[in-house]
Amino acid sequence: MPPSHSSATDPWEAVLERLDDAAKLTAVDPDIHRMLRRPQRVLEVSIPIRMDDGRVAVFTGWRVHHDTTRGPAKGGIRFHPDVDAHEVTALAANMTFKTAVANLPFGGAKGGVRCDPRLLSLGELERLTRRYTIEISPLLGPDKDVPAPDVNTDGRVMAWLMDTLSMIRGELLTASVTGKPLAVGGTLGHAGATSSGVLVCVRAAFNAVGRPLVGSRAIIQGFGKVGGPLAFLLSSAGMRVIAVSDVTGAVHNPGGIDAFALSDHVAATGGVAGFDMADPIDERDMWALECELIVPAALDGAIDADVASRIKAGVIVEAANGPTLPEADPVLDERGVFVVPDILANAGGVTASYFEWAQSRQGYAWDEETVATRLRSTMETAFEAVWAKATNLNVSLRRAAFALAVNRVADAIAARGLFP
Ligand code: GLU
Repeated sequence: MPPSHSSATDPWEAVLERLDDAAKLTAVDPDIHRMLRRPQRVLEVSIPIRMDDGRVAVFTGWRVHHDTTRGPAKGGIRFHPDVDAHEVTALAANMTFKTAVANLPFGGAKGGVRCDPRLLSLGELERLTRRYTIEISPLLGPDKDVPAPDVNTDGRVMAWLMDTLSMIRGELLTASVTGKPLAVGGTLGHAGATSSGVLVCVRAAFNAVGRPLVGSRAIIQGFGKVGGPLAFLLSSAGMRVIAVSDVTGAVHNPGGIDAFALSDHVAATGGVAGFDMADPIDERDMWALECELIVPAALDGAIDADVASRIKAGVIVEAANGPTLPEADPVLDERGVFVVPDILANAGGVTASYFEWAQSRQGYAWDEETVATRLRSTMETAFEAVWAKATNLNVSLRRAAFALAVNRVADAIAARGLFP
């Protein structure tokens, strides 16, 4: 299908640009480079479901495997009206590189259904999830492809997915999905894992630029599964969260936003707009506020060259996937902004997924402390590896993270050789 993006904002073009740069930077074998420029497989499916009013609606979904050399395909499933094949393919490739940066034994995948889940009833959402699962089921399985939550999907959706796959295969396949509820084999510590990993990167970045965390000001774009818990974590670490935005609007309080009060407001009203302990602000103006840290924790493409030229923060930690367009990279570099890229910064989620997969396969649950300690240590190790690469090549953390990832995937491809 044709992409719904222009070439400047096409997320797949952005991945190719960064992959090509990494390949050049570290002289990757041109044969392997060519292999990584294509997804391994792209499955597009049609999803007819009976709506509550009796008519049949037909949705489109995708599951893409980018590369599975280092392990089973791994990556989330998102339900969003703007999802298309290019976006899912770009996100799948970013999972290949993310799992390589965190050194997890997985390849890269992503799934998506083009729909607006806010317009679906619970029953419609469940039928959509189950029919989508059936349609992509030839790709799935604990050793083939292991989905997880992403934008607008959660533990409940993962439980339906796991149940559907288990029913059709006639065996309980708990290791076929991660981000499951605890009641059906989920892990302790999955819910806040991406945010905890982001905090590890925030600490490391502030350390690198020689700034104290305590008393510094932060802006969070997005108050969902990642931005929400992160507001609490940053506040507990002593930072002042001065602005938060989501799809309903943006709010600003230079004295600091109370994460508990904002969470209660969002639970009651569905969004940050109308929060009376802060002032409303245009999201475009929010980016330009005086602060030390910005965390984009929403969708891709939020930071273009114009936004980048107005940012005053010294550090950006990318909790979202693909929040910065390639056109913004040189602008941020010139302005000396320290950017921790998505494939490193948000790897905490898939790291917790790896722990969940390992526990499900083993049939042995870890305690919360074990999950938290191993998560912290995986993220610190990943940050140090990217930092070392950046120092060695004298490039930004983004270019270094891609270089490290591409090198690890290339080594695996070379070691396995080409079939047949
Ligand atoms: N959706 C998350 C991500 O983009 C988690 C993926 C996973 O756990 O497989 O990293």
